[in-house]
Formats: sequence, structure tokens, C-alpha cells
Amino acid sequence: MAFNIPAEVGMPVAEVDTPCLLVDMDALDRNIAALADFARSHDVRLRPHAKSHKSPDIAARQFDHGAVGLCCQTVSEAEAMVAGGARDVLVSNEVVAPRMIGRLAALALKARVLVCVDDASNVTVLEEASAAAGSRIEVLVEIDVGAGRCGIAPGDPACELAHRIADSSHLRFAGLQAYHGPAQHIQDHTARGAAIDNAIALTRDTVDRLAIHGLHCEIVAGAGTGSFDLEAASGLYNELQCGSYIFMDADYAGVRGVDGGALPFEHSLFLQTRVISKTRSGRAVCDAGLKSHSVDSGLPTVFDCDGVRYTGASDEHGQLDDPQDRLALGKTLRLVPGHCDPTVNMHDWLVAYRKDRVVALWPIAARGMSL
Ligand code: PLP
Ligand code: MN
Repeated sequence: MAFNIPAEVGMPVAEVDTPCLLVDMDALDRNIAALADFARSHDVRLRPHAKSHKSPDIAARQFDHGAVGLCCQTVSEAEAMVAGGARDVLVSNEVVAPRMIGRLAALALKARVLVCVDDASNVTVLEEASAAAGSRIEVLVEIDVGAGRCGIAPGDPACELAHRIADSSHLRFAGLQAYHGPAQHIQDHTARGAAIDNAIALTRDTVDRLAIHGLHCEIVAGAGTGSFDLEAASGLYNELQCGSYIFMDADYAGVRGVDGGALPFEHSLFLQTRVISKTRSGRAVCDAGLKSHSVDSGLPTVFDCDGVRYTGASDEHGQLDDPQDRLALGKTLRLVPGHCDPTVNMHDWLVAYRKDRVVALWPIAARGMSL
């Protein structure tokens, strides 16, 4: 499909069609390098989450910086990433739909494939599927460390489930998934630390009990952009799964680091929008609405025009407060999306730029891959 391509390499960024996702390549590369350096110096592996970018081109840059593999949230997302070159993917989620389990088992013939489970019956079905495919799936027991989402209770219930996996012949018990999602977005570092300390204690207890049963956790996985320093310092977690750090959305801009300052990453993802109507003093309307960015974590911030605020979204329109009437028809603005992951999933292309020129167009290959 050669239509709806928003830009050409070499053109000025301000002329790119809108609404369109831009990636500041220098900022992206600094973010990728910053977390890679952190992981190396703290002796933990980095398995970044591909749910944020859904882009084999960005994954390749993460591999160049030492990422051991990727996390994906769904089977079809994992398929897209393997098709794009990934050799080691963890589906950091439960897979229950029968046909998707079949696809997962088939994918394990092409790459190292890991998946999470929190139920014994799911182990049985995964075992049958990998036997039928002639593959081997590696399995992490997901424990609920306080997030209240998926995950079996830590401690003995998790150990019992791990035994089921270890006793099967086409699955391999690879360790624990112990991710605390809501904690990522607790703004205060001390309060976030308390939630993660609790997660670490529950995980440590489970690892110790497994060891008593002779079950070793090769992988103890978790952590996101908000908490990675805490899991890394635990001496227990050995794989970090951060996703949003490459882009840094407006929500994460409010999450404080250890010293009360910002997290050590920069905004690199922008929704470029254009003023399409300027009929009233103090207000303007742009072309970025609910179909081009996600507002579930709050409205976007305006990155490059002081005094202008984004105040409301309808399907294809954005309302802008423009108290000094700085905006003229056709002016472009860069918005920092409120929540990067669902925003990326609304677009086909990432337009990468350096300075003010487009340098690459990256397909969002796993867009819509929610199965
Ligand atoms: N790991 C899991 C299991 C997740 O669900 C997510 C995001 O929701 C992440 C890692 C990455 O988190 P973040 O984008 O906050 O870095
Ligand atoms: Mn998210």
C-alpha cells in the first residue's frame, strides 16, 4: 500500500503531513543508550518491551545496544517482531485462545519463545500445543506482586505451578514474571519504592521456596520505566522490561526520579499536528484528536510553543488555548502524547528526524496486532 505515507526522506519536518508521529532520532538513541548502560553497569539483562514501539527498526537499535531479546504483549505482536528479526521473545502475558496457543507453539520453531502462565490448565494446553508443533516453549510463572492484574499468588501456589511446568516434556520452566504495572506511575519515588519493595519481598520469598524444591529461576523478570532502578538494585531481578523509556510520554514526565528530578530519559516521540482553524481570538483548532493520540493518561503537552495549551479532544479535532494568538493557520506544533503505547498503535509510520529533516520512515509493523 503506497498511500498515506506522511513524509519523504530529506524533507523539512514542518512540511510533513499531519497528524503524524515524529521520532527525534538523537533523543531516541540517547534513551536507548542510557538504559543499556544502566543495565550493563548493574549487571542485569535488558529485554525491552516492544509494545511501546511495535517497530523492528527500533528493536534493532535496542539489540545493537545489547538487549538480550524483546517482550511482546501478544502472540501476533511477537510474530511481527520475529518476522522483523527478533530471535528471542517473551510474551509477557497469558495466552489462552486455542488458535493463538497454536501460533505461539509454531513461532517457537523460529525463535526462542517464552510465555507467562498463572494457571495449571493453561500449562496442560501449552504442553499439548508444543508437542503437536514439535517445538519447546519456555515458561515463566507470573506472580501477582501487588498489581492486581494477572498472576498466581506468590509462595507455595507459584511453586506448585512451577512443578507442573518442570514435569512436562515440551515446556521448560524458566523462572518468574513479577511485574508491578501500577507502581510505575506512582509519581513520588519513595512511595513507588515502597510498592516495589513489597514486590521484591514477595518475589524473593517465592525464589527461595522454589530453590528448596530444587527449581532454579534462570529469569526473574519485571520492571518498567518508572521502577527499573529499584528492581535492578534488588540483586534478585535479572531482566528489566522497560518499554516507554525510549519515548517518554507526558504521563512519565510527571514521575520523579530518586533525587526528585525527572527520570533519566528525554521526550523523543511527538505527535505533529497542524492548526486547521483560527477563527477566534485566544483559541485555535488542530488536526490531532482522539483518533491520533490516546488521552487515557491525560492530555498531551505542547512541546514547542510556549503559552499554548491543548485543552480538549474530539474525534478528529484538538482544542488549543492560544492566549497570545501565536498560532496562524497551517502552523505545526509538536505534542507530547499523554500515553505513548496506545498512541503508537493508532499510526502506520514513525517519521524519524534529526535536526529539522526527515531521515527515515519506520513502519509500525505490529500496529493493531492485539490477538
Ligand atoms: N512489562 C510488562 C509486563 C508490561 O505490561 C509493561 C507495560 O505495560 C512493561 C513491562 C513496560 O512498562 P513501561 O512502558 O512502563 O516501561
Ligand atoms: Mn503504557
